[in-house]
Amino acid sequence: GAVGPATSTSPAMSVPELSAIDRKRLDFDFEKICCVTLSPVNVYSCLTCGKFLQGRSQNSPAHQHCLSEGHSLYINLDTKKVFMLPENEELDDPQLEDIRVSGGGNILEGIDLHGRKYTAGFIGLNNIKANDYANVSLHALLHITPIRDLFLSVDFCNSPSVLLRNLSSAARRIWNPTPFKALLSPHEFMQAVNLASDRRYSINKQADVLEFMAWLLNTVGRDLAAHHSVGLVTERLQGRIQVSTKQLRPTEMTTMLDATFQSKTVPFYYLSLDLPPVPLYQSSSGEFAVPQVPLEQLLSKYDGGQLSQRGDLLQAFSLEGLPEYLILHYKRFVKTHLIWEKNRTIVSHPLIGLPVLDSKKDAHHYDIVANICHRGEAEKGHFFIQLLHPATGHWYEIDDLMVRQMPAVNIPLSESYMQIWRRK
Ligand SMILES: [Zn+2]
Repeated sequence: GAVGPATSTSPAMSVPELSAIDRKRLDFDFEKICCVTLSPVNVYSCLTCGKFLQGRSQNSPAHQHCLSEGHSLYINLDTKKVFMLPENEELDDPQLEDIRVSGGGNILEGIDLHGRKYTAGFIGLNNIKANDYANVSLHALLHITPIRDLFLSVDFCNSPSVLLRNLSSAARRIWNPTPFKALLSPHEFMQAVNLASDRRYSINKQADVLEFMAWLLNTVGRDLAAHHSVGLVTERLQGRIQVSTKQLRPTEMTTMLDATFQSKTVPFYYLSLDLPPVPLYQSSSGEFAVPQVPLEQLLSKYDGGQLSQRGDLLQAFSLEGLPEYLILHYKRFVKTHLIWEKNRTIVSHPLIGLPVLDSKKDAHHYDIVANICHRGEAEKGHFFIQLLHPATGHWYEIDDLMVRQMPAVNIPLSESYMQIWRRK
């Protein structure tokens, strides 16, 4: 409910700041990280503009925001206590109750036959047990426009491929303009995946999104080519990379490419990017800061001039052919001492016009269309996906059954694991 005009009996009379609250701009369901420090510790939402800011001591981002913008009310996203800055006083007012309970939230357009709201194509998928890895991959695949259009326009119900039959019916249900339900159980799709993968993937066991996506693309591409003479997956999603390799003798230090490198060109469906090791330093404010790295810096691994060492192999990579849809993978999970650890480095990047250099040093420009993110610890975490709605330019986050609109500026703030970019 909206705040009514202040009357003589309303508590708002004594706290005029309450009238500055804009409930439409509040949404506490996003990842709770400060937009200035990127830290998840002590994060508040400004109740006037909705920004997430670390607080609330002197010189904290919330305090600075209060002084520069004149916004005075902040809610702690963990305790849901509201404070007034710069006085730093707690405010307990019944008018804040609806904010504490609902946490704001944007509303999607359209209503299904059960009265649930939806946008065609942005449908929640049930996490039956541990199949969030497959749900985000299914959404990512079916939001690649030519793949979606193929599955919506061609009838695969008689295909010998169990995977194609089920992908086709999943596509029709996800993109149905008037769904019976605004959510979908991926049970049948997962049964097909289980069969087609020889029991490797199931609803019961979490799997790596990269491995699963690579398997899905290879299998769908193979079945489309074999049974239907359709080369769409390789034509639109596969690039070619030249790998130059040199055996390193133990005493040798090599810094330049020379004649002893051997080169071969191989196809690829994705490029893996290394995240810099996380330093365990503390920021001057005494809180752990999350490191950040620009995507352009990570991509320099593939511009031919940079050498990577793997064991006693020295390698250089250059991109001979760039696909229309480019998949990037961030190596977030690293095994050290038999334990999987997660690198939480945030990768900063533009949303449109990302330049990627080919082997002739020509820049190809890409816009991001899908962002698969990971939340939580390495082996206990959870995958969710952020997707562009091309017709409106809006972004939606789909987290199992939860579907919500999100501000595009938040995309580079998430712990991205895999991204899909479309060439301009
Ligand atoms: Zn504000």
